[in-house]
Amino acid sequence: MKTIAITGGKGGTGKSTVATALAVELGKKHKVLLVDADVDCPNDHLLLGIERKKVGAVKQRIPKWNFKKCTKCGKCGEVCKTHAIVSIKGKHPIFIEGQCNGCGACVLKCPVKAISWSKKKIGKVFKGKGYGIDFLSGELEIKEPLSEMVVAKVGEELEKVSGGYDFVVIDTAAGTHCDVISALRDCDVAFAVTEPTPLGEHDLELIIELLKELGIKFEIILNRFEEGKSEIIEKIAKKSGKKIAAKVPYKKEIMEAYCKGIPVRDKSIEKIAAMVEK
Ligand code: SF4
Ligand code: SF4
Repeated sequence: MKTIAITGGKGGTGKSTVATALAVELGKKHKVLLVDADVDCPNDHLLLGIERKKVGAVKQRIPKWNFKKCTKCGKCGEVCKTHAIVSIKGKHPIFIEGQCNGCGACVLKCPVKAISWSKKKIGKVFKGKGYGIDFLSGELEIKEPLSEMVVAKVGEELEKVSGGYDFVVIDTAAGTHCDVISALRDCDVAFAVTEPTPLGEHDLELIIELLKELGIKFEIILNRFEEGKSEIIEKIAKKSGKKIAAKVPYKKEIMEAYCKGIPVRDKSIEKIAAMVEK
């Protein structure tokens, strides 16, 4: 089994378009699992018109108070680094659930053991099938901040099933933050997808820096390619000792496939699939 990550420092460069198209292309000859690890904003199922089935929930531990035991000392509020507890001496603490990361400091600090644990649902895990490939994804609940826990749960699910596939294609979140790092960690090769704009250039440099830091073999894919407009990305590729591995053209047929929720078919995607197979 080989794991291929489709990543990119910037959102909106076409990562998901490339990831879904590549997974479907590889799926013509191989057993492929597509993983949407962009849990803040998963959209691979929409791009492929896959109906997802919920297979699990992600829960975060949160503290709960027993005010019969609480002596209103205010110590739990003092240790909470995320300001999830408003403590006023002489009053019961007020808990702001959305700020809590479940660290447990308040539970440990309370001198009368008035705080114990409860749980709240912060995300879901889904599976699905379509176009000859299997699909796995996670989704963070609205207003919840701890996306890394959902990514970790998707990673656990992936570990259970990945042995049954020739290729696992992981579509990471955009950026260079913790969720991206955990999605990239065990991959064999990463494709950094970018676009020919100054922002694309800037964020490509960041993701290349991260991939080098993590010691991950990588290639660069230029999306929305138009003749004579790719110089800024060519320069970054050269600076990092690379050539642009594939150029996905800016053309109407690709936009139409994207809007209709069907996989993009293009020679550039076939080229990437051939590189992966090698
Ligand atoms: S578990 Fe940690 S973050 Fe949550 S309320 Fe307690 S101290 Fe604050
Ligand atoms: S530390 Fe315990 S006793 Fe003190 S205010 Fe918090 S819950 Fe109440």
